[in-house]
Amino acid sequence: MSVQHQEQLRKIIQSIMTAHQDEQMDCETCSGQLECLAERVAGGANLRDLLPEVEAHLACCADCAEEFQALVCILRAEQSGLLKHIE
Ligand SMILES: [Zn+2]
Repeated sequence: MSVQHQEQLRKIIQSIMTAHQDEQMDCETCSGQLECLAERVAGGANLRDLLPEVEAHLACCADCAEEFQALVCILRAEQSGLLKHIE
């Protein structure tokens, strides 16, 4: 296991522990926020500043993280398409 992977694993374990200490977020609650958050992140906002609980959930939940990344990708593509259209 590389140092990078160890560091990644450490962060994941840390966020799982943090998520269990603080209020826990389940996938249903998380995905309810994803669309709105993805819109803001695609617009340049930082997820950590918006909702740290969601960020913590995404760090330990691959399903939601994947969904979130997909949403941001789609929105960014839409935005760049829109900009080109205006130009
Ligand atoms: Zn989840």
